[in-house]
Amino acid sequence: MKQIGQRPKKIVIDLNLLNTLNTEGCPACGGKFSLGEMTVPAFGKWNGLKLVHEKDTVFNNKTNSYIDKNMLGEVKS
Ligand SMILES: [Zn+2]
Repeated sequence: MKQIGQRPKKIVIDLNLLNTLNTEGCPACGGKFSLGEMTVPAFGKWNGLKLVHEKDTVFNNKTNSYIDKNMLGEVKS
C-alpha cells in the first residue's frame, strides 16, 4: 500500500527569511517578500525547489508538489 506524502510545508516569512530571500526576490514573480507572507517550496524554471509566494504556485496532486504557475502555460499573450 502506497502512502501519500504530506503536502510540502508552507513557510511564513520571518525576518530571517526576509533578509535572505529579498536579496534576489521571488523567483516566480520577481517581487519582494513581506513579513508574514505565505510561501511554499516550488518547482519552476529554476533548478530544484525554491521558496516562492504561495499565490504564484499551483499544487500538483500527482507529484505532491507546488509548481510555478508560469510553468503551466496558463499565461499566454
Ligand atoms: Zn512571487
